[in-house]
Parts: sequence; structure tokens; C-alpha cells
Amino acid sequence: MSDLIFLDSAGSSIPPAEVVDEVIGHLRRETEIGGYRAAAERRDDVEAGYGVLAGFFGCEPSEVAFTDSATRSWLTAFDAVPLGKGDRVLVTEVEYGGNAVPMLRRAEETGATIEVMPSDAHGQLDVGALDLDERVKLISLVHVPTNGGLVNPVSEVTAKAHEVGALVLLDACQSTGQIDLRGLDYDMLVCTGRKWLRGPRGTGALVVRDDVRRRLKPRLMDHSAAEWVAPGRYEPRDDARVFELWEYSVADRLGLIAAVKYALARGLDVIEAEVQERARRLREGLSAMDGITVQDLGERRSGIVTFTSDRVPAMELKDRLWQENVAVTVSQKGSTLIDMTRRGLDEVVRASPHYFVTPEEIDQALERISRSAR
Ligand SMILES: *Cc1c(COP(=O)(O)O)cnc(C)c1O
Repeated sequence: MSDLIFLDSAGSSIPPAEVVDEVIGHLRRETEIGGYRAAAERRDDVEAGYGVLAGFFGCEPSEVAFTDSATRSWLTAFDAVPLGKGDRVLVTEVEYGGNAVPMLRRAEETGATIEVMPSDAHGQLDVGALDLDERVKLISLVHVPTNGGLVNPVSEVTAKAHEVGALVLLDACQSTGQIDLRGLDYDMLVCTGRKWLRGPRGTGALVVRDDVRRRLKPRLMDHSAAEWVAPGRYEPRDDARVFELWEYSVADRLGLIAAVKYALARGLDVIEAEVQERARRLREGLSAMDGITVQDLGERRSGIVTFTSDRVPAMELKDRLWQENVAVTVSQKGSTLIDMTRRGLDEVVRASPHYFVTPEEIDQALERISRSAR
């Protein structure tokens, strides 16, 4: 696969050697001395990981929890937001399927309502059209959708949410690792390791602001989230680790920390600029192609490039591109049902070039796409 052109960092990216060495090295060490002693050897590194992620997100180490996926982070945070009858939960038109289903279930249980916030003419969340009152308890804000290049506003939404006491849960799954998130205002953030961060699969993180944590009611606690101090009594931790479980893959966590360090060393501003440039080049080439329609919305664009062909269905086009050694994926209706339905789309081909894809490779990918879509 030497001529593989990898355009799927929005799906599951290619980890750098530093990450893989960390994971495999630790697994090997576990075979030598057992999991507990191997973990003890790396306790300081795991502990330092909270600081590493805090530096990456621009938050406090006490606001960081490690999890096994973005979805786990989201479920854990969402479950802890008190909701009752008549409460309103607002979502963007690009809400992710994995968030929507648990929200619908919770709405059934509690009598809260789920409402869709309108988008503006560019397709991103219309901050001016936000209809908020004190019944709004939560805004579920997808920063970058899974099915297209738009980037939603964050801090402006949070400012408005806070006027009515609502919380903002930011799904930064597709922005973490390609967009610098430091300085953004939100109450809770979820991310995954496997996408733009180039970390191992089965890893994720949750950021919960210190002052927000005290307003939440974590329900899924074990004896590391809280100390069992007397047979009838427990004391929850006073940091974001109240959202963690005792058991986790130490190898994968070390791999995630290595991935974050790797991104920080490269420079978050450099990464963002390089991803933007690759995506712009790809979008321009696709726009000029006969029979291809770029499907990205938004004024501000991310590294996700989506398109359809007049002649070849998305799945077939993806298969042909895999044959041509171009790794792309298909984003289907069920992942972003509201948006896809509204736009009359069933599926789009998704290409997501990271900084490690060269401009020459983008040009070669364009040639192969042109050939495959004939
Ligand atoms: C991929 C994705 C998720 C879920 O990430 P997992 O790693 O599968 O938990 C959540 N939201 C968005 C927008 C995504 O693209």
C-alpha cells in the first residue's frame, strides 16, 4: 500500500510511531511483569497526562477526565445534567446520531423536549436566531459535524446560553486535533482519540469546567470516582475524575497522551493551517470537476471535505477509490439525520486530509477521484 493516499482522519487516522511504540511497549511490559506493576512504573506519566491534556485544551488538570471514547464522554456528561418535565434541550441541525439517540431516550423518561436550533444561510448555527429562556437546560453543540466542512460558533453560543443559565456541551470530536480549541468557552467538551488526534482507538476525553461540575449529578460512579468510606456512605471526588471508572487500558491511555504531546510539539496553529490548506486544495479541485458536487456548508471550513457524484453512488465511489488506494469514507444519513434529510441527501463521500498528506498527494487523489467517478 505504498501509494496509499490517506484521506480519512475524520474516521480513524494513522497514529505516529511515537503513539504506537508507547502502546505496544506497555503491552509488552505487561506480559513481562503483569498489569499492576507495569502500571505502577508509569504512574507518574499517567498522572502527568492530566496536565498534558489541560495544556492542549486550555483548561485546568482538575477539569480533565479520560474515557474510552467520545461517545462514553458524552453519555457520562449528558447523564449527569439534571433534566425534568418541560425542560428544553437544544441541538444543532448537524447533531450526531450517537448523541441524538440517548437524548431521545432521556426525553421519553423525563418529559424534557429536544428542539433543533436553526442554521443561517451558510448552514452554520444562527446565533442571532437562538430562542432561549430559563427552561433551556442544555445546548448540545456539535463544533464540526461528521458529514461536512462547516465549523459552528462556540463562545458566542455559550455567552447566550449563560444568560439563561443553560449549559453547553460541546461535541469537539471532529475538531480536536485539527482546530486549536484553547480559548473557546463551553461548559463541557467531549473528544475522541482516534480521529484528528492520531491516537489509539478506544480512547477519549471529557472536559468539565470546575464550576459546572458542582452543578452536575454524576450517576455512573464506581469506587475510584467516589471513596467508599463507611458501609453506608461514599464521598465523590472533587475533580473531573468523578466521571472516570477505575479500570482502563493503561497502554491506550499512554498512547493518547503521546498523541496529544505529539500534536502540541507540532504546533496546534501549524496543524490547523496545514489541514485548512490541504482541504482547500481538495475542495477547489473537486469543485472544478465535471459531475462532482462539493456538499460542504459553512462560511468557516474545517478539514472535512464531502462530495457526491452525478454518476456513481457514494458507496460505489468509495469502493472504487479504495481499489485506487485512496482512503475515503461515506457519511450516511443516520449519522446526521436532521441535516441530511433537510438537504435531501442519503450519503456523501467524505475525504479528510491531515497535515501528513502532501499537496502532491491531494493532486493525485483528485486524478483518481476524477477517474473513478466516470
Ligand atoms: C465520531 C464522532 C463521535 C463519536 O466518536 P467515538 O469515538 O465513536 O465515540 C461523536 N460526534 C461526532 C461529531 C463524531 O464525528
